[in-house]
Amino acid sequence: MKTIENINFFNKRVFVRVDFNVPLDQNQKILDDTRILRALSTIKKISFDGGKVIIASHMGRPKNGYNNKLSLVHIVKKLSSLLGQPVAFSADCFGDVPEGMIKKMNRGDVLVLENLRFHKQETSGCSEFAKKLSHLADVYVNDAFGVSHRKHASTFTIASFFKNKSYFGLLMEKEIESLNLVFKKPVRPVTAIVGGAKISSKIFVLKSLIGKVDNIIVGGGMAYTFFKAQGFSVGRSLVENNMLGVANEILNLVKKSKTQFFLPIDSLNSTDLCEFKNTETTTADKIGVNKMGVDIGGGSVGVFSEIIINSKTLVWNGPMGVFEKPAFERGTKSIALAVVEATKRGAFTLVGGGDSVAAIKKFNLMDGVSYVSTGGGAMLEFLEGKKLPGILAVGG
Ligand code: AMP
Repeated sequence: MKTIENINFFNKRVFVRVDFNVPLDQNQKILDDTRILRALSTIKKISFDGGKVIIASHMGRPKNGYNNKLSLVHIVKKLSSLLGQPVAFSADCFGDVPEGMIKKMNRGDVLVLENLRFHKQETSGCSEFAKKLSHLADVYVNDAFGVSHRKHASTFTIASFFKNKSYFGLLMEKEIESLNLVFKKPVRPVTAIVGGAKISSKIFVLKSLIGKVDNIIVGGGMAYTFFKAQGFSVGRSLVENNMLGVANEILNLVKKSKTQFFLPIDSLNSTDLCEFKNTETTTADKIGVNKMGVDIGGGSVGVFSEIIINSKTLVWNGPMGVFEKPAFERGTKSIALAVVEATKRGAFTLVGGGDSVAAIKKFNLMDGVSYVSTGGGAMLEFLEGKKLPGILAVGG
């Protein structure tokens, strides 16, 4: 792998694409700095080498150019305090402004460029735009795993302007290594736990896992579409009616494969998504007409935990229920504890996807799993077996 580990960046201008798309509150205060923390080792390595670190990122999805709410200026103070050194900010990401600032940079200095997506050429993957970005630096480093499934100017196109001078950052290296432990010759049994709201966002990964992994555990909102597809009444539970055919297709594919497919056997049902009102646990085929399924039931927790604890490789994307509400968190928390237990017993456990990560964070179990991925969509596409543009471009 072309990583920065053995490269010396002394006196080099280094364009580092990171994923600083951190959540901000109404006052532009950072709510969660995980993404910044995870990029620090790459930034520090280049800076300690005596390189000039030019940081580029996107934030949010700006529609019409500049938008102060999505300016990367809001992360500068935080980055500076985490690095323990001043960090400069360029009000644009290419052209005279950053070029002038870069000329004045000393070895080891760090500069943050303004949000790349204030220019629509970033997301269109524009070659001219990528070329302008490339003028800023001698070397390109991609450490933005979270957007490596995007064919954008700074994640893909730009690498062609740095022939033999593009590398993976240390975070990217770790992400790829961890996913390969799941994807290429994993220690068996391998179990994938897939949850979350919708089948539609995870259908490709579900299909591609069939035949590859030993067990697939499905929970969360998407389970109810599978129940309805089997003819069960699911009351007011979340159902994607346009996915009923796909759900049946998946169930048929599973029957023909060696992969075992596990749906919840019971469900915690409530009249309300917000309150612990009139709740009851029923088998999956007995959900009341006025009820909606909000979590897996205790029976499912037992079955799923047993499979998880006996697995040697685990990948988890998506919660088992509406874990944000304390009343409905039990299923997701129990599954998280089972994953932690499997880790203690020597399994390699990988958790990814915004909501699963939010869940293990909420339960303070981040340190109990082997690896927490910074990529949701990117991780799913990697597991689907797709070649990610951000990895291909550097040469992975
Ligand atoms: P996703 O982004 O598809 O991984 O979905 C995550 C979201 O699914 C979380 O916000 C959960 O609250 C939600 N969720 C999980 N289970 C259910 C359910 N049974 N009904 C409604 N929403 C759910």
